[in-house]
Amino acid sequence: MRQIINPFDQSVLTEVEDQTREQAIAAIAKARNAFDHGDWQHASPEHRAAVLNRVADLLERDKEDIARTETLDTGKTLVESRIDVDDVVSVFRYYGGLAGLLHPKIVQGAPADVISRIDYEPVGVCGMIAPWNYPLLQISWKIAPALLAGNTLVAKPSEVTPLTTIKLFELLEEAGLPDGVANLVLGTGPEVGAPLSEHPDVDLVSFTGSLATGQRIMASAARTVKKVALELGGKNPNIVFADADIDTAVDYALTAAFFHAGQVCSSGTRLIVHSSIYDDFVTEVARRADRIKLGNGFDEDTESGPLVSAEHRAKVESYVQTAKEEGATLKAGGRRPEEAELQNGFFFRPTVYADCTRDMKLVQDETFGPIITAERFETEDEATFLGNDTDYGLAGGVWTQDLDKAQRVAKKLRHGTVWINEFGPYLPQAEWGGFKRSGVGRELGTAGLHEYTEPKHVYQNLKPAAQNWFARKDDK
Ligand code: NAD
Repeated sequence: MRQIINPFDQSVLTEVEDQTREQAIAAIAKARNAFDHGDWQHASPEHRAAVLNRVADLLERDKEDIARTETLDTGKTLVESRIDVDDVVSVFRYYGGLAGLLHPKIVQGAPADVISRIDYEPVGVCGMIAPWNYPLLQISWKIAPALLAGNTLVAKPSEVTPLTTIKLFELLEEAGLPDGVANLVLGTGPEVGAPLSEHPDVDLVSFTGSLATGQRIMASAARTVKKVALELGGKNPNIVFADADIDTAVDYALTAAFFHAGQVCSSGTRLIVHSSIYDDFVTEVARRADRIKLGNGFDEDTESGPLVSAEHRAKVESYVQTAKEEGATLKAGGRRPEEAELQNGFFFRPTVYADCTRDMKLVQDETFGPIITAERFETEDEATFLGNDTDYGLAGGVWTQDLDKAQRVAKKLRHGTVWINEFGPYLPQAEWGGFKRSGVGRELGTAGLHEYTEPKHVYQNLKPAAQNWFARKDDK
């Protein structure tokens, strides 16, 4: 059994089963059997969509309970957890409205007397592996489209934060999903995650998590030529031009980097500011960072919770030493909070470093914590160069009131999402994913559905007749 810890005070919330490799393989067999011999893949898309909409209804019914569980498990504020549940409901409803996209498409331009069509068939058994920062949300971005497309699945939440995924599986059952279609495995990556990328009975593996684990999964999936979908890390630029609405840009610089204590794949921790406003801008960001109220996610005045675990805080804290060695100037934070009531939690103060340069490890690494690095630029070209100066390519923001300039920079940024005079939102209708080492494939949107389909071309000749291509003269 594994103890699930509340990161706010290290209390034990509950214990969950730590499953074995054999149990994961048994879950794969169950999903395989349900795919090959069950009705799910043959049910109409409308029938499957109705199940998704029932799941959305049940999530709404249990919203408060699920949100509270997410706050206990991750430390994020209850307000954030409620937003997460609302977003998950929207994703189930969005895919619940897309059954029509799975109907066969007649191919235009086929020869006369031929009917040519594309059928959208499910891929088969899908393995799904999720991280701890948005536990319910990330797994739902996979489960909803995969089910609509008629797949069966085995899902593995992070062993650190499995509780809301366990709850979601109860709701899938209550919504009437047939036995064996959706299977949950609980445990560590090497034990129950690895079989999902290795086993020949899994047809697709969809992973959200770190670059290092993603590389391992891609390599191991190569042996059976599985389809692979990867949502990996980011080091996301937030570019502020001198002509931006400065008050708004300061406000968003804080939310971009400190929302969920920076534990967001798309967090805008790489602040890139025009030199003419740099000093005042960074000073104001630091002043406001120092005022952020850390605390219990259930308290209404808490603005940010703890980091998820002692191990993760140790990783984030190691960057304080890196920053010292690299000569960055500490403007805010860089330490644990002093309040007595926070001493049992894995807290780390929102941190701002000035005088950062592109060659610093502090600037290039995904710290996955509340650490802003602030760099300066002089020209638009330099801003876009710095914005692309990362192995990742997940998301970026641009702040300027010159909309032509904003569009020029947005066009040049090699990131899967670019926000103009905004930072952070996503839409279920819009594809989400990474350029470069931030991933392979897309979630959300219609592309997020088609990750889980195999288009099959069916070509029917209505007037078959011998072609005599190989007919020899002496046959006649
Ligand atoms: P992680 O890679 O450590 O773990 C992610 C999941 O993979 C966990 O469930 C873990 O148990 C499992 N795992 C570990 N080793 C495995 C193996 N050998 N085989 C199969 N599964 C294995 O990542 P994390 O620390 O949980 O999450 C943080 C990372 O996730 C960050 O890098 C963040 O940027 C990324 N992330 C990306 C997105 C996105 O949409 N691109 C969203 C959220 C988080």
